[in-house]
Amino acid sequence: MAKKPIGKAKQDWATQVGRACAASGLQLTTLRRQVLDIIAKAPAPLGAYAIIDAMSRAQDKQVAHPTVYRTLDFFLEHGFLHKIESRNVYAPCEHLGHRHHGILLICQVCGRTDEVESASLGKLVKEIAARSGFSAQSQMVEVEGRCRICQGVAATTDNNALDEPIDAR
Ligand SMILES: [Zn+2]
Ligand SMILES: [Zn+2]
Repeated sequence: MAKKPIGKAKQDWATQVGRACAASGLQLTTLRRQVLDIIAKAPAPLGAYAIIDAMSRAQDKQVAHPTVYRTLDFFLEHGFLHKIESRNVYAPCEHLGHRHHGILLICQVCGRTDEVESASLGKLVKEIAARSGFSAQSQMVEVEGRCRICQGVAATTDNNALDEPIDAR
């Protein structure tokens, strides 16, 4: 689990999804590819309407909503995407191919998300669920706050770590 540079990770994600689909005999239709591409290119997780808009622009005609929702469901079902329930947007899964016991860090400023895994948190949640007689399969904790980059911007007044000053006029 190496630290990934921002931007490149998403392109890798699209490539990995393509590979995973091929490996498990899932068909990546043109439509699925387009949705994948739109999500991979977006700097932050998108809502369904933004995806539908981008699709309609790409195809130069209005794309039917159920078609896009079905495509998103496909990616959700196979664990390629996460739905961020609190914001109703879709984020690429950064840890493809295994069950999730993670934390999704959601930046309230730029909307970027970062997915971190925690085996100990996963274990804890399973134990707590088990006490209620519940068998937990997967879980994703959503945490809202400020990402590293947005904190850096906000902190320029009291530290000069950035070489480009933010509008000093
Ligand atoms: Zn994930
Ligand atoms: Zn941010």
